[in-house]
Amino acid sequence: MTSSALALTDPTLLRTQAFVNGAWVDSERSYPVVDPADGARVSVVPDMTAADAARAIDAAHAAQPGWSALPASRRATVLRRWYDLVLNSADDLARLITAEQGKPLTEADAEVRYGAGFIEWFAEEAKRVYGETVPAPSTDRRILVLRQPIGVAAAITPWNFPLAMITRKAAAALAAGCTIVVKPAELTPLTALALAELGTRAGLPPGVLNIVTTNAPAAVGTELCRNPLVRKLSFTGSTEVGRLLLRQAADTVKKCSMELGGNAPVIVFDDADLDVALRGVMNAKFRNAGQACIAANRILVQSGVHDRFAEAFGSAVKKLRVGPGREPDSAVGPLIDTSALEKVEAHVQDAIEKGARIAVGGQRHVLGGTFYHPTLLTGVTEEMRIFREETFGPVGAILRFEKEEEAIRLANDSEFGLAAYLYTRDVSRAFRAAEALEAGMIGLNEGMISTEVAPFGGIKQSGLGREGSRHGIEEYLELKYVCIGDV
Ligand code: NAP
Repeated sequence: MTSSALALTDPTLLRTQAFVNGAWVDSERSYPVVDPADGARVSVVPDMTAADAARAIDAAHAAQPGWSALPASRRATVLRRWYDLVLNSADDLARLITAEQGKPLTEADAEVRYGAGFIEWFAEEAKRVYGETVPAPSTDRRILVLRQPIGVAAAITPWNFPLAMITRKAAAALAAGCTIVVKPAELTPLTALALAELGTRAGLPPGVLNIVTTNAPAAVGTELCRNPLVRKLSFTGSTEVGRLLLRQAADTVKKCSMELGGNAPVIVFDDADLDVALRGVMNAKFRNAGQACIAANRILVQSGVHDRFAEAFGSAVKKLRVGPGREPDSAVGPLIDTSALEKVEAHVQDAIEKGARIAVGGQRHVLGGTFYHPTLLTGVTEEMRIFREETFGPVGAILRFEKEEEAIRLANDSEFGLAAYLYTRDVSRAFRAAEALEAGMIGLNEGMISTEVAPFGGIKQSGLGREGSRHGIEEYLELKYVCIGDV
């Protein structure tokens, strides 16, 4: 089956080759990219090998001295042009995202704008990589601290945000003066390739940004982790793969950033504004059909408002329209693939067997394929898989609690610590809870917390390092201290 739905205003953004050293290249084999809404083939891309990845690393290594030697303002100008071109092509990029990833077009458009924001942000940050002078311990010395690009970076990215997860890394790396090799998720390579096309039009020199498409992630991933020319590895994906990559990168002692899985709690206290809480929870739960690392996985509701909140939540979930992302009134698209669907089903089944009640949904959607009915479960407990593991699907899971300390204990009872949300109008409680929650990001009376201006990242087994904000560029810089004597 071939997708007839993908008509781009600029058809040259649909690339069918990988991008290495400023050239569009093939590999020995290729593989199809399919639309998760109907299984139709959208395109075909090269299935690159470890040897192909090594060539991309060589190209990035050769390009790095020239790129980092440019004045920061020149790098900033190229990045700024890239940002403008991404926004000018927002409609086409959104169509590409929806075609290969499945999310509704309005969400895809929001991802383009969010992802472009990182390019603009880091274009500006490129000019602010300040060094330091330090008071020396003796009068005949001076001490300088330089911040220099680390060298060649490698990025491995997931399918759930095919554009933003790349710009969050690549824009920071390029602003710092690093060059980069990106391995996008095998299911969503087309957005990455379109970004490379726009980067080239913006003036990125050959070798500065390379895209290696593959459906052999382990072989290419091993090359990116073990090749000594790569000095920095930035990964976004599951904690399981993150652990493996950290082990592989240890032999060459690479600097690593890890944006890993989450299991976000939401706490709705008795004193919350329930309208605000419901709006926030709906956003944090059903955006991208629940396939977001900061999705609300465990919704803890205090007993005084539990029944009222659960009922309003159920009514809102019933109204969600399920359908292919390309149809304008779809609010929830398909899940990415069959294994994602099976995981969601298994979590719901396990919860029911252990005593949860289905308030809405609880089964595959009548549309078939990988569509799952937006679901609400009540009576969820700590023993259930849905409490312990990331569900990554459109399933709201409500737990009842009595006391504030109990809510904090339940929320922190996880190996993950990415995002947490709380709803309260009591300022003292807001501070106590925000400080006590073990998470890298807190949404207080807010369900949409991602922005390029704030540091994104997790604690515990949700990751290492931060992306976005003024801290994001640090991941691609090293400090060098210069001691000047005999002054
Ligand atoms: P994943 O299976 O870990 O895959 C992520 C990336 O790693 C993909 O490019 C994948 O390639 C690659 N990969 C898989 N196995 C590999 C291996 N052995 N060696 C090297 N690379 C390998 O995760 P996913 O299912 O795509 O994404 C969902 C996960 O990402 C969730 O856990 C979510 O929470 C997390 N996530 C975290 C953040 C954050 O900022 N913290 C943001 C978004 C998503 P293939 O595509 O070829 O398998």
